[in-house]
Amino acid sequence: MTVLPIKIYGSPVLEERAAPVEEVDGEIRDLVRRMTESLYYHQGLGLAANQVGVPRRLFLADDGTGLKVFINPVIRGREGEVSAEEGCLSFPEVFVEIPRSKSLLVEYLDQEGEPRRLEAEGLLARIIQHEYDHLEGVLISDRAGFIASRLIRGKLKKLKKRVRESL
Ligand code: ZN
Repeated sequence: MTVLPIKIYGSPVLEERAAPVEEVDGEIRDLVRRMTESLYYHQGLGLAANQVGVPRRLFLADDGTGLKVFINPVIRGREGEVSAEEGCLSFPEVFVEIPRSKSLLVEYLDQEGEPRRLEAEGLLARIIQHEYDHLEGVLISDRAGFIASRLIRGKLKKLKKRVRESL
C-alpha cells in the first residue's frame, strides 16, 4: 500500500474551495483511512483532503491527544487571538508566524456521519483553523504578514518551480 502523496504549494487543487461531502459512505471512510496513514507517515498535525488532491470538505487533526476527523466542518464561534509559527505539509521547510483565534467552537460530522460539536483551544484550535483554511483554498502564504511574506518569498518560488517541473 502506497502512502498518498501530498500536494505541494503550486498545485492548483490547494487553491480550490472544497465542496461538501454529500454522504459519509465507504468511499469517504476509505479516504479517511488513507489520509490517516499519510498524516502519520509525514508526521503532520493535520491534513486536509485537498492536500491529497481531493477537493472535499474533510480534514484530520491530531494535536497529540488522538486523531479527530472533521467532515463538513463549520466554525461557529471564535475568541481571543494568539500568534505562533506554523508549518504545513504542503510547504516543506517553510514556517510562518500567523495570528489565529485562541479558542473556537466547531460543528462537524465524524467518520460515522454523526453530528458533533467541539470547543477547542490551544494547539488543536490552531490546527482546526489551519485545516479549515485549506478547505477554503487559503494557504499559510496568504495568511503571512508583510515581513513574513518577504522572508519566505525565495522558498515559495523554489517550491512552485519544483511543482511546475514535475507536472
Ligand atoms: Zn497545511
